[in-house]
Amino acid sequence: MKRTFREYKIQRTCIKSFKDYASYKKYLREDFHSRCAYCNLLDSKITTPFEADHMIPREAFDGKRDELETLYENLVYACKKCNMAKGSQYKGDIRRNVVENEYFYDPVKVDYNDIFYRDDTGSICSEDEKGRDMISRLKLYRPIHNMAWLCEMLEKTLKKLEQQLSKEGVESERGKLLSQAKSELQEYYILCQNVFVANYNSKKYEWSKPMPASVAE
Ligand SMILES: [Zn+2]
Repeated sequence: MKRTFREYKIQRTCIKSFKDYASYKKYLREDFHSRCAYCNLLDSKITTPFEADHMIPREAFDGKRDELETLYENLVYACKKCNMAKGSQYKGDIRRNVVENEYFYDPVKVDYNDIFYRDDTGSICSEDEKGRDMISRLKLYRPIHNMAWLCEMLEKTLKKLEQQLSKEGVESERGKLLSQAKSELQEYYILCQNVFVANYNSKKYEWSKPMPASVAE
């Protein structure tokens, strides 16, 4: 089953200008719904701070189009893993007066739901050639992205259980069962979340090859 990649629209609404690109981070956070533009991870789920990624990287514009350093249109809210994976990768003609990196779809200009989806295991997939290339370039095939998604699904289910429990009350027989299920689910959720954070923070944890579900369809 194909599952929707993200459940909101990203926009760029900040009209202020700052000398330091990091000052835009709180505006990016709002415009990008506190989620990584590339992998959709929610920033409160990890201990590593999110970053303002340059769509056209500094290595490409340095000394040629220095205004791109603090141009809001060139900034993307991204998690550290995606920002590191993206690095200095750039394709395009830097002399052209456009804010475009041909390797990557701009998450504001292109709806990623038209490009990416999640499969049943939470793998980020694409049937689009450039989308697949992005999965490889940004290492979106890494198991941490499955884990992040699975944690979110567990959390969603936990919330549903809690809602049902508040309707039933803990006194009834059903309520007692629900309450027990909730405690068990909560334990698994916390475990999964901890395993995810540990793997996210680890430098060693990496797959050398893309997972088949992402690329070999
Ligand atoms: Zn990310």
